[in-house]
Amino acid sequence: MSLESMAERTAELFARCFGHAPRWIVAAPGRVNVIGEHTDYNDGFVLPMAIERYTVIAGDRNDSREVTLHSVTTGETATFNVREPLTRGEPSWSNYVRGVVAGFQQRPIKVPGFDAVIASTVPFGGGLSSSAALEVATATLLEAITGEKLEPIEKALLCQKAEHEFAGVPCGIMDQFTSILARENHALLLDCRSRTTIPVAMTDPSITVLMINTNVRHKLADGEYAKRRSQCQTAASALKVPFLRDASAKALKAGRSKMEPIAFRRARHVISENERTREAAWAIQAADWATVGRLMYASHDSLRDDYEVSCKELDAVVEIARAISKENGLIGCRMTGAGFGGCAVSVVRTEAVPRITHQMDEAYERKTGIQATIFSSRPAAGARVLK
Ligand code: ADP
Ligand code: MG
Repeated sequence: MSLESMAERTAELFARCFGHAPRWIVAAPGRVNVIGEHTDYNDGFVLPMAIERYTVIAGDRNDSREVTLHSVTTGETATFNVREPLTRGEPSWSNYVRGVVAGFQQRPIKVPGFDAVIASTVPFGGGLSSSAALEVATATLLEAITGEKLEPIEKALLCQKAEHEFAGVPCGIMDQFTSILARENHALLLDCRSRTTIPVAMTDPSITVLMINTNVRHKLADGEYAKRRSQCQTAASALKVPFLRDASAKALKAGRSKMEPIAFRRARHVISENERTREAAWAIQAADWATVGRLMYASHDSLRDDYEVSCKELDAVVEIARAISKENGLIGCRMTGAGFGGCAVSVVRTEAVPRITHQMDEAYERKTGIQATIFSSRPAAGARVLK
C-alpha cells in the first residue's frame, strides 16, 4: 500500500471514530540494518536505511485532558490523562506513546489532550523497528500539536528514552535516529559514539534491497541480548578499553590469553563487524556490489559462529541465498536485527527480484515448513508531516 493511500485510509478511520477530519497526519518509517549488528551498544558503527513501511498517525487536539488512541493494527483503544503523572499502563503498546508524551512534558512542553488513530505497515517484532516508528510518529505528531519543533538528535534521544523507561527495552540509538534522519535513496552510516551520521548514496536503480521475514521469533532473545552486552563489557575490560569500539583486531589477538574463549569470540565479532560496516559504506558509495555482498555474508557467518545470535530459520534463508548465487542476481544476504528470528536482509539485482522472491519463498517453506514474508524497498526518507 502506498503512503498516500495509507494516509487517506487512516484519516477516514479517524473521521469515523471522532466525527471530524483529522487536523494532522504524520508518518515515520521502519528501518532495516544493512550491516553493523550488535555494534551499537559497543559504541561502534551501524549502516541502516529507512524502508517504505510506515507508522501513520492521524490526530487532532480534543480540548480536554484525555488522550484517546486507537490502533488499527491491534484493534484496541487506549486512554490516559495528560494532567496526571504519566506511568506505564495498559494496553502495553500505549506505553510507547505515553513515554513520548512524558518526554515532551519533561522538556517542559505542555501537551494538551488529543485523539489519534494509528496504522502501521511495519511488521511487529520482525526487527524492522515498528517500535521506533511508533515513537517517532508520536513525537512528530506532538511537534505539530504543540508547535514546538525539537532538534532531530534531541527528538531521537527522547524517543529512545521512552522505549527504555516505558517499554523496558534497553535499545541503542540506531532505530530512532534512522526513522528521523533517513534520506531517500540513502543509507546512513551512524557512529553510535559521536552520534554523527553520514548519508551513503544508494541510488543505483539496478540494485534492490529485499527483506525476508522468517516469521519466527525465539523466546530466548531478551535474556541472550543482556548476556551479549555483558560479555562485550568483560572483553573490553580485559583489553583495558572503555568499549570494544576502541580495540583493534591486533589488540584482540594480543589479549586473547586474558579472556575466556567465549568473550574472545564475542569481541572478534564486534571488532570485525565495525570494520565491515565502514568498508560496506565505502563499497555502497562506490557501487562495488561484489564487496557489499561479501561483507554481508561475512557478517552473517560472524553472527552465527562467534556471536551465536542466529537461528536455523535465519541460517536457512542465508544458505538459500548462497545457493541462488551472485550469477543469478543475489549479491548478499545476512540476518538483520538482534537475532533469534525476525528478518534477513538481502541485496539483489532489481531485474531478478520476482525470480529470487519465488525461489526463496519455495525453498524456505520446503526447508522449514514456515511461510516467509518477502518484500522490497528503496531507501526511504525519515519522518514527516503529511498534512
Ligand atoms: P520491532 O520494533 O522489531 O517491530 P518491538 O518488540 O521492539 O519489535 O516492538 C513491537 C511492539 O511495538 C508491538 O508489540 C507493539 O506493542 C508496538 N507497536 C508498534 N507499532 C504499533 C502499532 N501500529 N499499534 C500498536 N502497537 C504498535
Ligand atoms: Mg523495536
